[in-house]
Amino acid sequence: MTECAPGKTGLTALIVEDDQAVCDFLQRIVEKLGYAVVVCNTAAFAREAFATRIPHLILMDWLLPDMDGLELSKTFRASVRGKYLTILMISSKDSPEDIATAIAAGVDYFIPKPFEKKVLDIWLSAASRNVQDCLVREEADLALAKIKEDLGDNNLQLEEALSRANTMAMEAEQAYIEINQIFKTVAGGIVLVDKHCNILRCNDSFLEMAGVKRENLHAQKCYEIFHSCLCNTEECPLQRIKKGVKRVENEIEKDGLEGVTVYYSTISTPFKGPGGDLIGIVEHITDITERVKAEKALAESERRYKELSLVDELTKLFNKRYFNTHLQLEVERANRHGHPLSLLLLDIDNFKHHNDTYGHADGDRVLARLGQVIAESLRTNDVPCRYGGEEFTIILPVTSGEQATVVAERIRARFAGEVFQPNPQETVRKTISIGVTQYLAGESGQSLLERADQNMYEAKQGGKNRYVLK
Ligand code: GH3
Ligand code: MG
Ligand code: MG
Repeated sequence: MTECAPGKTGLTALIVEDDQAVCDFLQRIVEKLGYAVVVCNTAAFAREAFATRIPHLILMDWLLPDMDGLELSKTFRASVRGKYLTILMISSKDSPEDIATAIAAGVDYFIPKPFEKKVLDIWLSAASRNVQDCLVREEADLALAKIKEDLGDNNLQLEEALSRANTMAMEAEQAYIEINQIFKTVAGGIVLVDKHCNILRCNDSFLEMAGVKRENLHAQKCYEIFHSCLCNTEECPLQRIKKGVKRVENEIEKDGLEGVTVYYSTISTPFKGPGGDLIGIVEHITDITERVKAEKALAESERRYKELSLVDELTKLFNKRYFNTHLQLEVERANRHGHPLSLLLLDIDNFKHHNDTYGHADGDRVLARLGQVIAESLRTNDVPCRYGGEEFTIILPVTSGEQATVVAERIRARFAGEVFQPNPQETVRKTISIGVTQYLAGESGQSLLERADQNMYEAKQGGKNRYVLK
């Protein structure tokens, strides 16, 4: 392979010829045309040079020592730049069939050997024009390919953007459908209110609660549609959320339709835009009228039950109401059968002081303990009652005053033996004073009670922690 200096045109010609004299001759002529020339004596060199030097014009022999020139021509044509090559064959195989075969193998120009220089010049100048045309075509093709590639890139980007936009649109649509469904199916009313109290959106349940038809909803403020006791106060959920509260829960009472009171539970949370800025609030309103009514009914029945109850809750003894009716019964029975009947009236000594020193709750513990002591010290027929505060009465049927003092003393002594510990550092003992009296035939229950009270008073006067029978 023979290399040569670059030509003026920047073009390269490849000469493939095993006859050195022909090679030299061709080289001189082609160099004069401005080509850089590479000369190869074999097909193997030619292939190597073709790959590295990227020739524009190829002058080649048909009969090469190592390969058929036509096969080599086909190889060149089949390469990436094959369609931009100008191939000129010079051969002694010059029958019309040979020439046709050569043209079919990708040869552009055919010069039979031996040739005249003038003929060679003519074909070379034609081939050179073809080389120029090929160059123009190659550049145009390259530019086109670049445009196609750019377009392809743009298309790809466009397609990606479109696909993203489609996905986002589908997601947005899905979210819209879901929110609509939630709005429709959620239990209770939902209302979106902006920072200026304007209703942005609400569901049908909310409109039903507010007693407003959707077609009559025109840019009203929330407090015009659904006024509550929180409106225009500092407790207004919107105002509180504007101040930074994350969740506001309320139970409100409202005059419903036809003057019926309705109760609602409301949960308000911030309604934020995509950037996290506060737009307003979302309020979820649930009708809890039934629940509140049930609670009120329960509270009322508890109150009534207590009222009707005959037992004192703290001491588990009978209460004053029971005492009054039962005393009346026992008085009648005593009168009827002539049995004795006695009454005790007990009062805790210095109880106020205990309450003041150790607290009301501890005082309650003392009262409850006295209740136990009394209950444990009686017979089945005896009727122990908490008369009120720290005073207790005990009706003792078929019991004389003397016998009653035994009971009184038992209770007094047992209770005096009880040890209370209002705090870890202290222990306290409490005492009681007891008025004991026996029923006098014909007198009223009230008079019996008054005497017992008088005796209890005397027990106090006498120094407390004792009983007085009169
Ligand atoms: P006295 O020895 O003269 O009876 O003095 P006292 O302090 O016991 O009597 P006073 O009538 O001055 O006070 C009775 C106290 O009983 C006052 C009241 O607070 C208390 N008391 C009444 N009912 C209850 C109750 O249900 N629980 C408690 N902890 N204290 C009660
Ligand atoms: Mg008292
Ligand atoms: Mg007392």
